[in-house]
Amino acid sequence: MLAVLKESPAPGFALREVPMPELKPGHVRVRVRAVGICGTDIPIFEGVRRVPYPLIPGHEFAGEIEAVADDVHGWQPGDRVAVGLVIGCGTCLACRAGEESRCPQITEIGIHINGAFAEHVLAPVSTLHRLPDHLTFADGASVDPLASAYRGIRRLNPLPEDSVAIFGLGPIGLYALQAVRAHGVRRVIAITPRAGLRGEIARALGADAVIALNACGDLPAAIQSHNDGALPSLVIEATGKPAVFNDVLRVAAIGARVLLLGIFHHPASFDPALIIRRELRVEGSFCYNWTDFEASLDLLARGLVRTQPVITHRLPLREIGHALELIRRREAVKVILEP
Ligand SMILES: [Zn+2]
Ligand SMILES: [Zn+2]
Repeated sequence: MLAVLKESPAPGFALREVPMPELKPGHVRVRVRAVGICGTDIPIFEGVRRVPYPLIPGHEFAGEIEAVADDVHGWQPGDRVAVGLVIGCGTCLACRAGEESRCPQITEIGIHINGAFAEHVLAPVSTLHRLPDHLTFADGASVDPLASAYRGIRRLNPLPEDSVAIFGLGPIGLYALQAVRAHGVRRVIAITPRAGLRGEIARALGADAVIALNACGDLPAAIQSHNDGALPSLVIEATGKPAVFNDVLRVAAIGARVLLLGIFHHPASFDPALIIRRELRVEGSFCYNWTDFEASLDLLARGLVRTQPVITHRLPLREIGHALELIRRREAVKVILEP
């Protein structure tokens, strides 16, 4: 089968013919129909994030079950599935509480073991979710970023009277936007470095206002002008960029809650007084568990969240090099590859 291989820490990857993955107990083999390129795949390809080499990356995927191990029940060849990346150890306290993404022994498909930038992939049954017939494989491959955003938002439980500011309009920010909208909040203000495609998509997905940082002047004032003079009661950070961290705290209303979804690869310096004097509650959220994934799939099935404007490109697996270039040039938001 054709696969994208990361063979060493040197930047780049190779497209190769490799043997099909062999079935193991407790696993199914999935014929990959759609796989998304994630922000976390980029440092893997660049060699900045070390993985066990050689590795087939790719963790946002959906497809059809092709073969099931003898001990697997309830799944058949031909079943359409969306697959979560988290594999917990199954025995630690976190795993027993259904919080496998907090497992100290966490294994992630496409990061620690072979993933879905390939025609076929092996997946343990604990990671499988049934993909409803009316959802596409590209929808199924989008549950991973949606669930990563939705986990934080479920825990925040936004109320109809909340107003929300979202920093960052990549896939996580755009799914967070739709998820807070689904909670019926009164206003959503999207913040992006400069006007362009991402702002337009945010507007199409229900943002009440889009603020471009390079053209807005005083940011708190710009936000207030779109929010009846008030600062937002909820601020969502979805850039992972240290430079915006002080702004994230600065624009929050007194007593507001701040949700950190972006993965910071570098430390940020910030003024703790911004949190203390204004009694902010700052909460981090990382990855998702089985239940978050299932709830996210339900949002898609009910049409409360849409993948289409977020997915800007669909390309064959062979064109992964071109896809990465589109992402690097910020011409693409989410690219789905179809092996
Ligand atoms: Zn991802
Ligand atoms: Zn565990």
